Amino acid sequence: MKPKSVRIGIIGCGNVGSSLINLIAERCQTIVRRSGLSLEVASVAVRDLDLERNVPIDSGLFTNNPEEIVTDPSIEVVVEVMGGVEPAFDLVTRALQAGKSVVTANKELLAAHGAELYALAEEVGVDLLFEAAVAGAIPIMRPLRESLVGESITRVTGIVNGTTNFILTQMSENKMSYSNALVEAQRLGYAEADPTADVEGFDAAAKLAIIASLAFGVKITSADVYREGITSITANDIEFAGRLGYCVKLLAIGEQELIDETPQVGVRVYPTMVPLDHPLAAVRDSFNAVFVEGDAAGQIMFYGRGAGGRPTSSAVLGDLIDAASNLHKDHGASIGDLESISVTSIDSLVVPYYLEVEVHDQPGALAQVAAIFGEHKVSIRSMEQEGLGDEARLIFITHAAQESNLQATLLDLEGLGVVQKVGSMLRVLGD
Ligand code: NAP
Repeated sequence: MKPKSVRIGIIGCGNVGSSLINLIAERCQTIVRRSGLSLEVASVAVRDLDLERNVPIDSGLFTNNPEEIVTDPSIEVVVEVMGGVEPAFDLVTRALQAGKSVVTANKELLAAHGAELYALAEEVGVDLLFEAAVAGAIPIMRPLRESLVGESITRVTGIVNGTTNFILTQMSENKMSYSNALVEAQRLGYAEADPTADVEGFDAAAKLAIIASLAFGVKITSADVYREGITSITANDIEFAGRLGYCVKLLAIGEQELIDETPQVGVRVYPTMVPLDHPLAAVRDSFNAVFVEGDAAGQIMFYGRGAGGRPTSSAVLGDLIDAASNLHKDHGASIGDLESISVTSIDSLVVPYYLEVEVHDQPGALAQVAAIFGEHKVSIRSMEQEGLGDEARLIFITHAAQESNLQATLLDLEGLGVVQKVGSMLRVLGD
């Protein structure tokens, strides 16, 4: 049978866009055989027309005006791989309004405007697919949207930022300081010259907003996500974590719970002590993983390459073939209506904590510290003491306690005469 030709427009030809164009060329025969589609790159928008592009298409197909792509009636699917919120939001909106299906890898765009764009695609009856926006090559959006749509998902825990996972792995395995590990990540191209979005957890928060929206069927944006980065993690924290049977990971955690009979969602990104026997502890270097827990399905883990032009373009290509196959069918990819929901405050979080306190090594010091924990209903599960000359370092792991109580404990410890310094506080991944 003659393959059906579908004209596509690609906005952006950087890491992901150029890899995608190469992958389409490499795989064209397989794509025809597997889907009956011939994907024809009709136009590619870039900023700089003079830049050399290592892609197997005619140079006449490039434009520096992305408007041409969204207004060309012969283009049926638009791939947005330019990044950023504007003008991507305007271009994607107009492409959808014009009846084109859209594939995007843009987490910033979806974390800010996902709900509006999903609703618009639904209303127009076209696809908006975004597998590559979260965890690169790892199929997680489609499983959440399709395979697990009947599941009651209780918690999603992800390592969704490869840069921070690489840095923490270097600190743990090669005993590097945070700053040396960051330099190494920059040298290898895992971290940008300005690493803020990664190391302060903004990137993970955007991805978590998208994951939580799909997992729980609710409207969540980046602004809803509680966020802490990894910049204050020290080599000591990593070493103590190891001694106590944990590693430190930047986790993106989404949880659905019933509070006073009302469903609420908690969305949080912070460095976390992960037990070494947890599957997420085995996720090293720049790899990503998403651990999903559901009522009927139990535990499922998705693991793989979370970034890089070629892995990411593999996810974009899968979406592109899906969107092109769905053209002119009366059903496509749908995520249904997203509900508005309350987001729980970090103060109500209940987890175990790791806490480092340096005290003057004198009789009664430990009793005074323990009394403060008791006053705030924070119960100690284990304690290790290490001598530092006239000082002693106390390392506590608590039983599950409420965040507001733990914060009150920290405040009181800081005011205690025997306490030299309240050091790191890390949340521990609980059950
Ligand atoms: P990139 O290398 O910076 O490429 C961006 C491309 O968009 C460039 O070709 C640029 O043109 C073009 N562009 C930007 N603004 C434009 C405008 N106003 N008009 C026309 N063209 C414009 O970015 P990338 O790494 O490929 O990332 C693309 C998207 O994929 C982002 O949303 C990113 O978050 C997402 N993503 C990337 C990865 C990854 O590993 N790279 C992984 C997952 C998701 P010029 O080339 O002329 O500058």
